[in-house]
Amino acid sequence: MGEFTITKEKILQALSTVEEPDLKKDLVTLNMIRDITVGVNQVTFTVVLTTPACPLKELIKKNCTDAIHSHFGNGIEVNINMTADVTSIRNNAPLLDGVKNIIAISSGKGGVGKSTVTVNLAMALKKSGARVGIIDADISGPSIPLMFGAENMQPLISQKNGKNMISPIMQYGIKMISIGFLTPPDSAVVWRGPMASQALRQFFGDVDWGELDYILIDLPPGTGDIHLTLVQTVPLTGAVVVTTPQKVALADVNKGISMFRQPQINVPILGIVENMAYFTPSELPDNKYYLFGKDGGKTIAEKYNVPLLGQIPIVQSIREGGDEGRPIMMDDEPITNEAFKSAAEALAQQVAIRNASGQKTARVEIR
Ligand code: ADP
Repeated sequence: MGEFTITKEKILQALSTVEEPDLKKDLVTLNMIRDITVGVNQVTFTVVLTTPACPLKELIKKNCTDAIHSHFGNGIEVNINMTADVTSIRNNAPLLDGVKNIIAISSGKGGVGKSTVTVNLAMALKKSGARVGIIDADISGPSIPLMFGAENMQPLISQKNGKNMISPIMQYGIKMISIGFLTPPDSAVVWRGPMASQALRQFFGDVDWGELDYILIDLPPGTGDIHLTLVQTVPLTGAVVVTTPQKVALADVNKGISMFRQPQINVPILGIVENMAYFTPSELPDNKYYLFGKDGGKTIAEKYNVPLLGQIPIVQSIREGGDEGRPIMMDDEPITNEAFKSAAEALAQQVAIRNASGQKTARVEIR
């Protein structure tokens, strides 16, 4: 190769041959390359990803290095800082203005592991470096406080701009609110529909959430008032549907998906999480037993043409983690960690794709 000087412009030219595989545009067009510095036989720059949970992080990094080497020779040392700035289409939102993405976690039936999945997806996103919150919208059966070992915590009230605001509970690095923090444990309050809806609205309007990349909303099972209140209160980035592979669970998933897809509601389905997909005994990690049937979630994802975000195995420690108030994602258990991590990455990926499409979800007006 002859004598030449590497300039920032030439680096940008080289990197404009690298495509973001999900967004199908090159990194320069997407404004993902920043802070280029050129030294003697070396170049340093930053790649700003659309989420810290990007499953393509290593691939993108490698493709950048390869592009520099193929343009300037293998003798160049390439230093890449991989960072992320989570994308959002929620500009100037009247509620939760510091929150980039609001994601509803739903299920057709109770007991399929919706709360367990919410908690561990949140932990996995947090572990990747994202700022995460949870709203427990299951007003009559809140399980978030228990699953986070936070049953006895009480949120503080503080004044902000002359208004009393609730500070969310912070546990294990995640901000959260639940009716369970605001009523005495074991209290026999019966939440009628309008009261429950009012409580949910307060979680949006009266809680000081600050800045977050993702808020996950743990919905009650099925379809009901709370779902309608939610879509009428804030525009969602999208919804996730949790199911087991069992036929009886899948029948109700159809209803859930149809609700979000009704023309007047029109909330995008970001994907399906198939929970309790199989059982693997820890002493025989290669054996999988399909207790509730095989690939039920996968089949339904194909039927509705939505991504299958993940298949989570049945593991005793997942249940124990929930009961003991210490989500399993806090521990380094390879099988469960991998399952929740890849589901969280797939979710973050779908959020980024949705945001890049530029389409906004409208708040639902029902008269
Ligand atoms: P839902 O929110 O859908 O009602 P939960 O998250 O409360 O369901 O889960 C129901 C029960 O199943 C809980 O005891 C939970 O610990 C357990 N559970 C959920 N997912 C798994 C799993 N993948 N492996 C083992 N136990 C699980």
